[in-house]
Amino acid sequence: MALVGRISRQLFPRLYPVVSSSARNISFNLNDQQTEILETTRKFTLDEVVPTAAHYDETGDYPWEVLQKAFDLGLMNTTISEDYGGLGLSLLEACIVQEEIGFGCTGIATALGGNSLAESPVIIAGSHELKKKYLGRMTEELLVAAYGVTEPSAGSDVASTRTSSRKIGDDYVINGSKMWITNCGHANWFFVFTRSDPDPKCPAAKAFTAFVVDADSPGVTVGRKEWNMGQRASDTRGVTFDEVVVPADNVVGEPGGGFKVAMKCFDKTRPTVGAMSLGLARRALDEATKYSMERKTMGKQIFKHQAVLFMLSDMAMRYELAKLAVWRSCADYDEGRRNTYYASIGKLYGAIAANKNASDSVQVFGGNGYNKDYPVEKLMRDAKIFQIYEGTDQIQKLIIGREHMTKYF
Ligand SMILES: Cc1cc2nc3c(=O)[nH]c(=O)nc-3n(C[C@H](O)[C@H](O)[C@H](O)COP(=O)(O)OP(=O)(O)OC[C@H]3O[C@@H](n4cnc5c(N)ncnc54)[C@H](O)[C@@H]3O)c2cc1C
Repeated sequence: MALVGRISRQLFPRLYPVVSSSARNISFNLNDQQTEILETTRKFTLDEVVPTAAHYDETGDYPWEVLQKAFDLGLMNTTISEDYGGLGLSLLEACIVQEEIGFGCTGIATALGGNSLAESPVIIAGSHELKKKYLGRMTEELLVAAYGVTEPSAGSDVASTRTSSRKIGDDYVINGSKMWITNCGHANWFFVFTRSDPDPKCPAAKAFTAFVVDADSPGVTVGRKEWNMGQRASDTRGVTFDEVVVPADNVVGEPGGGFKVAMKCFDKTRPTVGAMSLGLARRALDEATKYSMERKTMGKQIFKHQAVLFMLSDMAMRYELAKLAVWRSCADYDEGRRNTYYASIGKLYGAIAANKNASDSVQVFGGNGYNKDYPVEKLMRDAKIFQIYEGTDQIQKLIIGREHMTKYF
Protein backbone atom coordinates (compact mmCIF):
# COMPACT_ATOMS: atom_id res chain seq x y z
CA MET A 1 0.00 0.00 0.00
CA ALA A 2 2.81 2.34 0.89
CA LEU A 3 4.46 1.78 -2.50
CA VAL A 4 1.17 2.36 -4.33
CA GLY A 5 0.77 5.55 -2.32
CA ARG A 6 4.25 6.75 -3.32
CA ILE A 7 3.70 6.00 -7.02
CA SER A 8 0.28 7.67 -7.00
CA ARG A 9 1.82 10.72 -5.41
CA GLN A 10 4.37 10.94 -8.22
CA LEU A 11 1.78 10.40 -10.94
CA PHE A 12 -0.99 12.52 -9.48
CA PRO A 13 0.67 15.07 -7.24
CA ARG A 14 -2.41 17.28 -7.31
CA LEU A 15 -4.39 14.58 -5.53
CA TYR A 16 -2.08 14.96 -2.55
CA PRO A 17 -1.92 18.66 -1.80
CA VAL A 18 0.21 19.88 1.04
CA VAL A 19 -2.60 20.40 3.53
CA SER A 20 -0.34 21.88 6.18
CA SER A 21 2.60 23.77 4.74
CA SER A 22 5.99 23.42 6.37
CA ALA A 23 7.19 26.13 8.72
CA ARG A 24 10.80 27.09 9.06
CA ASN A 25 12.43 28.38 12.20
CA ILE A 26 9.61 27.65 14.62
CA SER A 27 11.05 27.46 18.07
CA PHE A 28 9.39 27.44 21.42
CA ASN A 29 12.54 28.65 23.12
CA LEU A 30 12.20 32.37 23.63
CA ASN A 31 15.36 34.37 23.02
CA ASP A 32 16.70 36.82 25.62
CA GLN A 33 14.68 39.76 24.30
CA GLN A 34 11.47 37.73 24.17
CA THR A 35 12.04 36.39 27.67
CA GLU A 36 12.53 39.93 28.95
CA ILE A 37 9.34 41.08 27.21
CA LEU A 38 7.42 38.17 28.73
CA GLU A 39 8.75 38.71 32.24
CA THR A 40 8.25 42.48 32.16
CA THR A 41 4.68 42.15 30.90
CA ARG A 42 3.85 39.37 33.34
CA LYS A 43 5.04 41.47 36.29
CA PHE A 44 3.15 44.51 34.97
CA THR A 45 0.00 42.40 34.62
CA LEU A 46 0.21 41.01 38.15
CA ASP A 47 1.05 44.43 39.67
CA GLU A 48 -1.21 46.74 37.64
CA VAL A 49 -3.85 44.84 35.67
CA VAL A 50 -5.08 42.01 37.90
CA PRO A 51 -5.69 44.29 40.94
CA THR A 52 -7.61 46.94 38.96
CA ALA A 53 -9.58 44.78 36.50
CA ALA A 54 -12.70 44.42 38.68
CA HIS A 55 -12.87 48.21 39.21
CA TYR A 56 -12.83 48.98 35.49
CA ASP A 57 -15.32 46.18 34.81
CA GLU A 58 -17.67 47.61 37.45
CA THR A 59 -17.43 51.27 36.49
CA GLY A 60 -16.69 51.12 32.76
CA ASP A 61 -14.12 53.88 33.34
CA TYR A 62 -11.42 54.09 30.70
CA PRO A 63 -8.18 52.62 32.17
CA TRP A 64 -5.99 55.69 31.60
CA GLU A 65 -3.74 55.05 34.60
CA VAL A 66 -2.98 51.48 33.55
CA LEU A 67 -2.39 52.54 29.95
CA GLN A 68 -0.01 55.29 31.07
CA LYS A 69 2.07 52.75 33.00
CA ALA A 70 1.98 50.35 30.03
CA PHE A 71 3.04 53.18 27.71
CA ASP A 72 5.94 54.11 30.02
CA LEU A 73 7.14 50.49 29.95
CA GLY A 74 6.92 50.31 26.14
CA LEU A 75 4.01 47.86 26.14
CA MET A 76 1.83 49.96 23.81
CA ASN A 77 2.22 50.59 20.07
CA THR A 78 4.68 47.71 20.07
CA THR A 79 5.06 47.14 16.33
CA ILE A 80 5.81 50.73 15.30
CA SER A 81 9.32 50.61 13.88
CA GLU A 82 12.32 52.39 15.37
CA ASP A 83 12.26 54.79 12.40
CA TYR A 84 9.11 56.33 13.89
CA GLY A 85 10.11 56.12 17.55
CA GLY A 86 8.74 52.66 18.36
CA LEU A 87 10.34 49.41 19.45
CA GLY A 88 9.58 47.55 16.23
CA LEU A 89 8.67 44.32 17.98
CA SER A 90 7.92 41.24 15.92
CA LEU A 91 4.36 39.95 15.73
CA LEU A 92 5.27 37.08 18.07
CA GLU A 93 6.61 39.57 20.63
CA ALA A 94 3.47 41.72 20.29
CA CYS A 95 1.40 38.58 20.89
CA ILE A 96 3.41 37.71 23.99
CA VAL A 97 2.51 41.15 25.38
CA GLN A 98 -1.18 40.78 24.47
CA GLU A 99 -1.44 37.29 25.99
CA GLU A 100 0.08 38.41 29.28
CA ILE A 101 -2.12 41.50 29.60
CA GLY A 102 -5.12 39.42 28.48
CA PHE A 103 -4.41 37.13 31.43
CA GLY A 104 -5.07 40.11 33.69
CA CYS A 105 -8.03 41.66 31.85
CA THR A 106 -8.98 41.38 28.19
CA GLY A 107 -10.95 44.62 28.45
CA ILE A 108 -7.75 46.50 29.30
CA ALA A 109 -5.85 44.46 26.68
CA THR A 110 -8.43 45.48 24.07
CA ALA A 111 -8.14 49.17 25.01
CA LEU A 112 -4.38 48.89 24.75
CA GLY A 113 -4.44 46.75 21.61
CA GLY A 114 -6.93 49.10 19.90
CA ASN A 115 -3.95 51.32 19.15
CA SER A 116 -2.12 48.59 17.28
CA LEU A 117 -5.31 47.82 15.36
CA ALA A 118 -5.57 51.42 14.14
CA GLU A 119 -1.82 51.67 13.50
CA SER A 120 -1.56 48.45 11.46
CA PRO A 121 -2.92 49.83 8.15
CA VAL A 122 -0.64 52.85 8.46
CA ILE A 123 2.35 50.59 9.21
CA ILE A 124 1.47 48.29 6.30
CA ALA A 125 0.44 50.79 3.63
CA GLY A 126 0.99 54.38 4.83
CA SER A 127 3.43 56.81 3.21
CA HIS A 128 6.59 57.84 5.06
CA GLU A 129 5.05 61.27 5.84
CA LEU A 130 1.85 59.70 7.19
CA LYS A 131 3.84 57.31 9.38
CA LYS A 132 6.02 60.12 10.66
CA LYS A 133 3.05 62.27 11.55
CA TYR A 134 0.59 59.76 13.00
CA LEU A 135 2.78 56.87 14.23
CA GLY A 136 5.46 59.26 15.48
CA ARG A 137 3.06 61.06 17.78
CA MET A 138 1.85 57.75 19.27
CA THR A 139 5.35 57.06 20.55
CA GLU A 140 5.94 60.53 22.02
CA GLU A 141 3.11 60.58 24.57
CA LEU A 142 0.18 58.44 25.58
CA LEU A 143 -2.48 58.83 22.88
CA VAL A 144 -5.10 56.41 21.67
CA ALA A 145 -6.27 55.74 18.13
CA ALA A 146 -9.26 53.88 16.71
CA TYR A 147 -9.94 51.61 13.74
CA GLY A 148 -13.18 52.56 11.97
CA VAL A 149 -14.41 49.98 9.50
CA THR A 150 -17.71 48.57 10.86
CA GLU A 151 -20.98 50.38 10.19
CA PRO A 152 -24.56 49.74 11.32
CA SER A 153 -25.19 47.82 8.09
CA ALA A 154 -21.65 46.64 7.29
CA GLY A 155 -19.89 44.30 9.74
CA SER A 156 -18.94 40.94 8.25
CA ASP A 157 -19.93 42.35 4.88
CA VAL A 158 -17.22 45.03 4.66
CA ALA A 159 -17.96 45.57 0.97
CA SER A 160 -21.37 47.06 1.81
CA THR A 161 -19.70 50.04 3.52
CA ARG A 162 -21.71 53.22 2.92
CA THR A 163 -19.51 55.89 4.48
CA SER A 164 -18.45 57.84 1.42
CA SER A 165 -15.48 59.91 0.36
CA ARG A 166 -15.35 62.20 -2.64
CA LYS A 167 -12.37 64.11 -3.95
CA ILE A 168 -12.67 67.90 -4.10
CA GLY A 169 -9.49 69.64 -5.22
CA ASP A 170 -6.60 68.43 -3.05
CA ASP A 171 -8.93 67.21 -0.32
CA TYR A 172 -11.47 64.48 0.27
CA VAL A 173 -14.83 64.98 1.98
CA ILE A 174 -16.13 62.13 4.16
CA ASN A 175 -19.77 61.48 5.11
CA GLY A 176 -21.27 58.57 7.02
CA SER A 177 -21.20 56.73 10.33
CA LYS A 178 -19.25 53.94 11.94
CA MET A 179 -20.40 51.64 14.74
CA TRP A 180 -18.75 49.54 17.48
CA ILE A 181 -15.45 51.39 17.33
CA THR A 182 -12.96 50.51 20.07
CA ASN A 183 -11.23 53.50 21.74
CA CYS A 184 -13.64 55.78 19.87
CA GLY A 185 -14.41 58.18 22.72
CA HIS A 186 -10.75 58.92 23.46
CA ALA A 187 -9.15 58.65 20.03
CA ASN A 188 -6.69 61.24 18.79
CA TRP A 189 -7.17 59.93 15.23
CA PHE A 190 -9.22 57.38 13.36
CA PHE A 191 -8.40 54.97 10.58
CA VAL A 192 -11.55 55.34 8.41
CA PHE A 193 -12.65 53.02 5.64
CA THR A 194 -14.86 54.63 2.97
CA ARG A 195 -16.52 53.93 -0.35
CA SER A 196 -14.89 56.26 -2.88
CA ASP A 197 -16.52 54.89 -6.05
CA PRO A 198 -20.32 55.09 -5.82
CA ASP A 199 -20.81 52.79 -8.84
CA PRO A 200 -22.22 49.53 -7.40
CA LYS A 201 -20.60 47.63 -10.28
CA CYS A 202 -17.10 48.80 -9.32
CA PRO A 203 -15.13 45.82 -7.93
CA ALA A 204 -14.27 45.95 -4.20
CA ALA A 205 -10.55 46.06 -5.04
CA LYS A 206 -11.07 49.52 -6.61
CA ALA A 207 -14.11 50.95 -4.82
CA PHE A 208 -12.80 51.86 -1.36
CA THR A 209 -10.33 54.37 0.02
CA ALA A 210 -8.92 54.44 3.54
CA PHE A 211 -7.85 57.54 5.49
CA VAL A 212 -6.37 58.77 8.70
CA VAL A 213 -8.76 61.36 10.13
CA ASP A 214 -7.89 63.64 13.03
CA ALA A 215 -10.52 63.20 15.74
CA ASP A 216 -10.79 66.97 16.25
CA SER A 217 -11.66 67.62 12.58
CA PRO A 218 -14.85 69.69 12.19
CA GLY A 219 -17.80 67.37 11.49
CA VAL A 220 -16.57 64.40 13.58
CA THR A 221 -19.10 63.51 16.31
CA VAL A 222 -18.54 60.69 18.76
CA GLY A 223 -21.53 58.82 20.27
CA ARG A 224 -22.24 57.54 23.79
CA LYS A 225 -20.26 54.70 25.33
CA GLU A 226 -21.92 51.34 24.67
CA TRP A 227 -22.57 49.26 27.79
CA ASN A 228 -21.42 45.84 26.61
CA MET A 229 -21.72 42.35 28.12
CA GLY A 230 -18.01 42.24 28.93
CA GLN A 231 -14.64 43.91 28.36
CA ARG A 232 -16.11 47.03 29.92
CA ALA A 233 -12.75 48.72 30.40
CA SER A 234 -12.68 49.06 26.65
CA ASP A 235 -14.50 52.05 25.14
CA THR A 236 -16.86 51.18 22.28
CA ARG A 237 -18.93 53.84 20.47
CA GLY A 238 -20.34 54.98 17.20
CA VAL A 239 -18.95 58.00 15.34
CA THR A 240 -20.38 60.13 12.54
CA PHE A 241 -18.55 62.06 9.83
CA ASP A 242 -20.48 65.03 8.47
CA GLU A 243 -18.73 66.76 5.55
CA VAL A 244 -15.35 66.06 7.15
CA VAL A 245 -12.52 67.50 5.04
CA VAL A 246 -9.36 65.36 4.94
CA PRO A 247 -6.20 66.21 2.95
CA ALA A 248 -5.29 63.79 0.16
CA ASP A 249 -1.99 63.19 2.00
CA ASN A 250 -4.01 61.28 4.61
CA VAL A 251 -5.00 58.50 2.20
CA VAL A 252 -3.65 55.17 3.50
CA GLY A 253 -2.24 53.25 0.54
CA GLU A 254 -3.57 54.00 -2.92
CA PRO A 255 -6.82 55.87 -3.62
CA GLY A 256 -9.32 53.09 -4.43
CA GLY A 257 -7.08 50.47 -2.79
CA GLY A 258 -8.59 50.57 0.71
CA PHE A 259 -10.18 47.12 0.57
CA LYS A 260 -6.83 45.45 0.01
CA VAL A 261 -5.32 47.46 2.89
CA ALA A 262 -8.11 46.44 5.29
CA MET A 263 -7.91 42.76 4.32
CA LYS A 264 -4.12 42.67 4.55
CA CYS A 265 -4.27 44.04 8.08
CA PHE A 266 -6.19 41.03 9.34
CA ASP A 267 -3.10 38.85 8.89
CA LYS A 268 -1.37 41.03 11.45
CA THR A 269 -4.25 41.86 13.79
CA ARG A 270 -6.00 38.48 14.10
CA PRO A 271 -2.99 36.80 15.77
CA THR A 272 -2.95 39.54 18.44
CA VAL A 273 -6.66 38.99 19.12
CA GLY A 274 -5.98 35.25 19.28
CA ALA A 275 -3.21 36.03 21.78
CA MET A 276 -5.58 37.96 24.04
CA SER A 277 -7.96 35.01 24.07
CA LEU A 278 -5.02 32.77 25.02
CA GLY A 279 -4.50 34.98 28.07
CA LEU A 280 -8.13 34.57 29.06
CA ALA A 281 -8.09 30.81 28.43
CA ARG A 282 -4.99 30.46 30.63
CA ARG A 283 -6.45 32.64 33.37
CA ALA A 284 -9.60 30.48 33.44
CA LEU A 285 -7.44 27.37 33.79
CA ASP A 286 -5.28 28.96 36.47
CA GLU A 287 -8.25 30.09 38.58
CA ALA A 288 -9.99 26.72 38.23
CA THR A 289 -6.83 24.79 39.14
CA LYS A 290 -6.17 26.82 42.29
CA TYR A 291 -9.80 26.58 43.38
CA SER A 292 -9.84 22.81 42.80
CA MET A 293 -6.92 22.46 45.22
CA GLU A 294 -8.71 24.46 47.96
CA ARG A 295 -12.27 23.21 47.65
CA LYS A 296 -13.08 19.85 49.23
CA THR A 297 -16.16 17.68 48.70
CA MET A 298 -16.79 14.12 49.88
CA GLY A 299 -13.61 14.34 51.94
CA LYS A 300 -11.16 15.27 49.18
CA GLN A 301 -9.91 18.19 47.11
CA ILE A 302 -12.15 18.41 44.06
CA PHE A 303 -9.30 17.98 41.52
CA LYS A 304 -9.04 14.43 42.93
CA HIS A 305 -12.48 13.71 41.44
CA GLN A 306 -11.65 12.52 37.95
CA ALA A 307 -14.56 14.46 36.42
CA VAL A 308 -13.05 17.72 37.68
CA LEU A 309 -9.49 16.78 36.74
CA PHE A 310 -10.63 15.98 33.20
CA MET A 311 -12.18 19.43 32.91
CA LEU A 312 -8.77 20.86 33.82
CA SER A 313 -7.12 18.55 31.25
CA ASP A 314 -9.50 19.75 28.53
CA MET A 315 -8.85 23.37 29.45
CA ALA A 316 -5.08 22.82 29.33
CA MET A 317 -5.34 21.13 25.92
CA ARG A 318 -7.44 23.92 24.44
CA TYR A 319 -4.99 26.55 25.65
CA GLU A 320 -1.96 24.67 24.32
CA LEU A 321 -3.51 23.93 20.92
CA ALA A 322 -4.75 27.49 20.42
CA LYS A 323 -1.28 28.74 21.32
CA LEU A 324 0.31 26.50 18.70
CA ALA A 325 -1.94 27.99 16.02
CA VAL A 326 -1.40 31.61 17.12
CA TRP A 327 2.37 31.17 17.32
CA ARG A 328 2.42 29.41 13.95
CA SER A 329 0.63 32.39 12.40
CA CYS A 330 3.20 34.73 14.01
CA ALA A 331 6.16 32.67 12.78
CA ASP A 332 4.87 32.81 9.21
CA TYR A 333 4.16 36.55 9.42
CA ASP A 334 7.52 37.40 10.98
CA GLU A 335 9.35 35.39 8.33
CA GLY A 336 7.48 37.08 5.50
CA ARG A 337 5.17 34.23 4.52
CA ARG A 338 1.45 34.60 3.95
CA ASN A 339 -0.25 33.56 7.20
CA THR A 340 -3.96 34.08 6.44
CA TYR A 341 -4.86 30.41 7.03
CA TYR A 342 -3.11 30.15 10.39
CA ALA A 343 -4.21 33.63 11.49
CA SER A 344 -7.83 32.57 11.09
CA ILE A 345 -7.29 29.19 12.76
CA GLY A 346 -5.56 30.86 15.72
CA LYS A 347 -8.22 33.55 16.00
CA LEU A 348 -11.06 31.02 15.83
CA TYR A 349 -9.55 28.36 18.06
CA GLY A 350 -8.40 30.99 20.56
CA ALA A 351 -12.00 32.22 20.78
CA ILE A 352 -13.26 28.66 21.29
CA ALA A 353 -10.63 28.01 23.98
CA ALA A 354 -11.43 31.26 25.81
CA ASN A 355 -15.18 30.65 25.81
CA LYS A 356 -15.11 26.98 26.74
CA ASN A 357 -12.40 27.46 29.37
CA ALA A 358 -14.27 30.36 30.95
CA SER A 359 -17.47 28.32 31.08
CA ASP A 360 -15.66 25.26 32.49
CA SER A 361 -13.92 27.44 35.05
CA VAL A 362 -17.32 28.65 36.30
CA GLN A 363 -18.33 24.97 36.47
CA VAL A 364 -15.31 24.08 38.61
CA PHE A 365 -16.20 26.93 40.99
CA GLY A 366 -19.78 25.64 41.32
CA GLY A 367 -22.20 28.22 42.79
CA ASN A 368 -19.31 30.53 43.64
CA GLY A 369 -18.42 30.70 39.95
CA TYR A 370 -21.75 32.33 39.20
CA ASN A 371 -21.11 35.15 41.65
CA LYS A 372 -19.36 38.48 41.18
CA ASP A 373 -17.20 37.97 44.29
CA TYR A 374 -15.17 35.44 42.30
CA PRO A 375 -13.17 36.31 39.18
CA VAL A 376 -14.50 33.74 36.72
CA GLU A 377 -17.95 35.12 35.86
CA LYS A 378 -16.16 38.16 34.36
CA LEU A 379 -14.04 35.82 32.25
CA MET A 380 -17.18 34.27 30.80
CA ARG A 381 -18.63 37.69 29.90
CA ASP A 382 -15.33 38.94 28.53
CA ALA A 383 -14.75 35.83 26.40
CA LYS A 384 -17.82 36.13 24.17
CA ILE A 385 -16.55 39.05 22.11
CA PHE A 386 -13.66 36.93 20.82
CA GLN A 387 -16.20 35.06 18.69
CA ILE A 388 -17.48 38.33 17.22
CA TYR A 389 -14.92 41.11 16.71
CA GLU A 390 -12.06 41.05 14.23
CA GLY A 391 -14.22 38.70 12.12
CA THR A 392 -16.79 36.33 13.62
CA ASP A 393 -16.23 32.59 14.08
CA GLN A 394 -18.33 31.99 10.99
CA ILE A 395 -16.20 34.36 8.90
CA GLN A 396 -13.00 32.64 10.12
CA LYS A 397 -14.45 29.31 8.99
CA LEU A 398 -15.21 30.78 5.57
CA ILE A 399 -11.59 31.93 5.30
CA ILE A 400 -10.11 28.64 6.57
CA GLY A 401 -12.32 26.69 4.16
CA ARG A 402 -11.43 28.96 1.25
CA GLU A 403 -7.70 28.78 1.99
CA HIS A 404 -7.91 25.02 2.38
CA MET A 405 -9.69 24.53 -0.95
CA THR A 406 -7.13 26.63 -2.85
CA LYS A 407 -4.62 23.86 -2.11
CA TYR A 408 -6.72 21.47 -4.20
CA PHE A 409 -7.06 23.67 -7.28
C1 LIG B 1 -17.09 45.33 21.58
C2 LIG B 1 -16.87 45.46 20.10
C3 LIG B 1 -15.74 46.10 19.63
C4 LIG B 1 -15.54 46.27 18.27
N1 LIG B 1 -14.46 46.99 17.81
C5 LIG B 1 -14.39 47.33 16.48
C6 LIG B 1 -13.42 48.26 16.02
O1 LIG B 1 -12.56 48.75 16.77
N2 LIG B 1 -13.43 48.61 14.70
C7 LIG B 1 -14.33 48.09 13.83
O2 LIG B 1 -14.28 48.46 12.66
N3 LIG B 1 -15.26 47.19 14.24
C8 LIG B 1 -15.33 46.81 15.55
N4 LIG B 1 -16.30 45.94 16.00
C9 LIG B 1 -17.24 45.39 15.03
C10 LIG B 1 -17.09 43.89 14.79
O3 LIG B 1 -15.91 43.65 14.04
C11 LIG B 1 -18.37 43.40 14.07
O4 LIG B 1 -19.41 43.44 15.05
C12 LIG B 1 -18.22 42.00 13.52
O5 LIG B 1 -17.34 42.00 12.41
C13 LIG B 1 -19.56 41.40 13.08
O6 LIG B 1 -20.30 42.28 12.30
P1 LIG B 1 -21.84 42.58 12.64
O7 LIG B 1 -21.93 42.93 14.07
O8 LIG B 1 -22.35 43.53 11.65
O9 LIG B 1 -22.57 41.18 12.47
P2 LIG B 1 -23.14 40.61 11.06
O10 LIG B 1 -22.12 40.76 10.00
O11 LIG B 1 -24.49 41.18 10.84
O12 LIG B 1 -23.29 39.05 11.42
C14 LIG B 1 -24.41 38.52 12.15
C15 LIG B 1 -24.25 37.01 12.19
O13 LIG B 1 -24.29 36.46 10.85
C16 LIG B 1 -23.11 35.72 10.59
N5 LIG B 1 -22.70 35.96 9.21
C17 LIG B 1 -22.64 37.13 8.54
N6 LIG B 1 -22.24 36.95 7.28
C18 LIG B 1 -22.04 35.62 7.12
C19 LIG B 1 -21.60 34.79 6.05
N7 LIG B 1 -21.26 35.31 4.86
N8 LIG B 1 -21.53 33.46 6.26
C20 LIG B 1 -21.84 32.91 7.48
N9 LIG B 1 -22.25 33.66 8.54
C21 LIG B 1 -22.34 34.98 8.36
C22 LIG B 1 -22.08 36.27 11.56
O14 LIG B 1 -21.04 35.32 11.81
C23 LIG B 1 -22.93 36.54 12.79
O15 LIG B 1 -23.12 35.35 13.51
C24 LIG B 1 -16.48 45.73 17.35
C25 LIG B 1 -17.61 45.05 17.84
C26 LIG B 1 -17.83 44.94 19.18
C27 LIG B 1 -19.10 44.27 19.67
